[in-house]
Amino acid sequence: MELISIIVPSYNEEENVPYFYEEMAKYREELRNLGAEYELIYVDDGSRDNTVGEVKKLIEKDSSVHLVSFSRNFGKESAIYAGLKKSKGDYVVLMDADLQDPPALLPSMLRAIKEEGFDSVATRRVTRKGEPPIRSFFARMFYRLMKKISNTEFVDGARDYRLMTRQVADAILALTEYNRFTKGMFGWVGYKTKWLEYENIERAKGETKWNFWGLVKYSLEGIMAFSTAPLTLVSVLGLLMCIFSFVLILFIIAKTLIFGDPTSGWPSMICIVSLISGVQLLCIGIVGQYMSKMYLEVKNRPIYLIKEEI
Ligand code: UDP
Ligand code: MG
Repeated sequence: MELISIIVPSYNEEENVPYFYEEMAKYREELRNLGAEYELIYVDDGSRDNTVGEVKKLIEKDSSVHLVSFSRNFGKESAIYAGLKKSKGDYVVLMDADLQDPPALLPSMLRAIKEEGFDSVATRRVTRKGEPPIRSFFARMFYRLMKKISNTEFVDGARDYRLMTRQVADAILALTEYNRFTKGMFGWVGYKTKWLEYENIERAKGETKWNFWGLVKYSLEGIMAFSTAPLTLVSVLGLLMCIFSFVLILFIIAKTLIFGDPTSGWPSMICIVSLISGVQLLCIGIVGQYMSKMYLEVKNRPIYLIKEEI
């Protein structure tokens, strides 16, 4: 029997923890018939509700359930990393606790790896039913932008739900950066990936942890982690500004020499000065953003801290 490690990042999911367990158990037999047993690794990301208690209840009756509990909320990316580190399986699966990632797909995902020779089977949702339209719009814009400015492959609607071989999991683990953007990392490591599509499923219980501003920040993380295009843009902008200013200076000198008239032109001057200082501040800001990421990387802090592990 081979082993599948199922990693379930859980943050305030007390209602979903047992529910997820039950739903998953329905596919145990089918997976066994394919030659694989599974273990569940719940990664409690510093939940404030009774998520840990619910997982412990499961551990009491089922030895294939494990718990890694963080000292505080480190974010889903850290939870995924911790789960990968703790996983021992020949295959590893990432799954949300809220059942938005249908367990029903698992057997066919496993078959794709075992029989069709893929290294990884990823999923994407083709609809965004139940999501605010404005959010879908910006999400699509984000993917379109990333396709242009990054060398790494980004797939629109890609979920974190994915089955991979040990080899792929180890490749992700080899990327030890602090600012983690897992979606991009999977594209970066490569390997033969099959994409399965499904309709969006709304979360079973509880509420999403994402608000609009959180998603905006997340997308900026993605851009900075996988593209330096903003830095190039800033350099080009600076160059264009220099050329423009140089031409303008020549023009103003010539005009003053020919027509005199020292005081007029004050308003246009103020406009130009404030425009250019605005652009400069913006550019320094963008450079600063990259520097702040570097600062965090250089500090080399652990990606998560464990409080309890069963
Ligand atoms: N999650 C986490 N840490 C966080 C936020 C979320 O581990 O700080 C987990 C959450 O418990 C869930 C998964 O990540 O299992 C996806 O979260 P959510 O359903 O809120 O995101 P959405 O599906 O709306 O994108
Ligand atoms: Mg969800």
